[in-house]
Amino acid sequence: MSDKKGVDIDSDFMKSTDKNPSNIMPEKLTFDSPLQFECHPGVSCFTACCHNIKIVLTPYDILILRKRLGIPAHEFIVQYTEPTFLERTDMPGVQIKLTEDKKACPFVTPEGCTVYEDRPSACRYYPVGMADFHEGGKPEEGEDAKEEKFFFLVKEPHCKGFEEPKTWTIRDWREDQGVDVRDEMNKEWLRLIMRRKSHGFQASLADAAKRMFFMASTDLDHFRKFIFESSFLDTYEVDEETLEKIKTDDVELMFFSFKYLANTLFGAEGLSIKEEKIQAKVQEIQSRQDDSLKKAEEDYLKIKEERAKRKKEQEEALKKK
Ligand code: SF4
Ligand code: SF4
Repeated sequence: MSDKKGVDIDSDFMKSTDKNPSNIMPEKLTFDSPLQFECHPGVSCFTACCHNIKIVLTPYDILILRKRLGIPAHEFIVQYTEPTFLERTDMPGVQIKLTEDKKACPFVTPEGCTVYEDRPSACRYYPVGMADFHEGGKPEEGEDAKEEKFFFLVKEPHCKGFEEPKTWTIRDWREDQGVDVRDEMNKEWLRLIMRRKSHGFQASLADAAKRMFFMASTDLDHFRKFIFESSFLDTYEVDEETLEKIKTDDVELMFFSFKYLANTLFGAEGLSIKEEKIQAKVQEIQSRQDDSLKKAEEDYLKIKEERAKRKKEQEEALKKK
């Protein structure tokens, strides 16, 4: 979904089967809008939507799934995912790797989803997409945004859930699917992607920045090592309380990674560089400037000397005539 006023967050890109926009119903829904839909093992299409599908994983999805499977993040990434680009940007991410033969999600069985309680955000959203809409475009840093959240239905022809009699409000459906929690967990990460999208490709993102985004978004174990075992803490101010939290709490670490990425990729506030590092950088720049000035002065003196020499030669040549 997009609009000239600026949709900031859009959950729809995380799950897609076909690209037919006519599957998106042109009606803006609210929390109180009615929804006639139910998905259960009795529907004739049961598990159809777990095949031939693109499911993009958020950092929180990866965290929860790899904990459920009891494996480290990098093992989960290698075994169950493949690389993708996020929402048509150059930001690298991962999507679930489908099986070779049936093009099925590795977690689906004829009885249903084997990781249901911990299924990815994208699997929870369907068939209700959400957009976070900023009136008057994207707000500046620190500026209050006039936010409007709205929903839309994605009605795919093969999905028989819409023929079931059960009715809910969008609010109740979202609560039942645990979507509100996921929204909170994914919000800042989605903002990073939408920010990148709104900058367009004119502003290039260095490869090192893309690698950092990928590492922080997919492998929190690795990101933790980066915080505690590199020169990170010599460079950035991080208060003791935050440090204690991110040492052991993965969700806190994930939120911290979003802050770090917003700061390094887009210059957002939230992390500050240590005063001595700033001073050292200032001195380095000053010394580079001093060196350049010295060099310019030397060049000037050389040119001056050269001119004086040439002038003298010309005068002597004139005298000889
Ligand atoms: S994670 Fe579960 S719900 Fe999602 S596609 Fe795979 S099997 Fe289906
Ligand atoms: S296609 Fe629709 S009704 Fe069928 S399993 Fe998927 S969500 Fe449920």
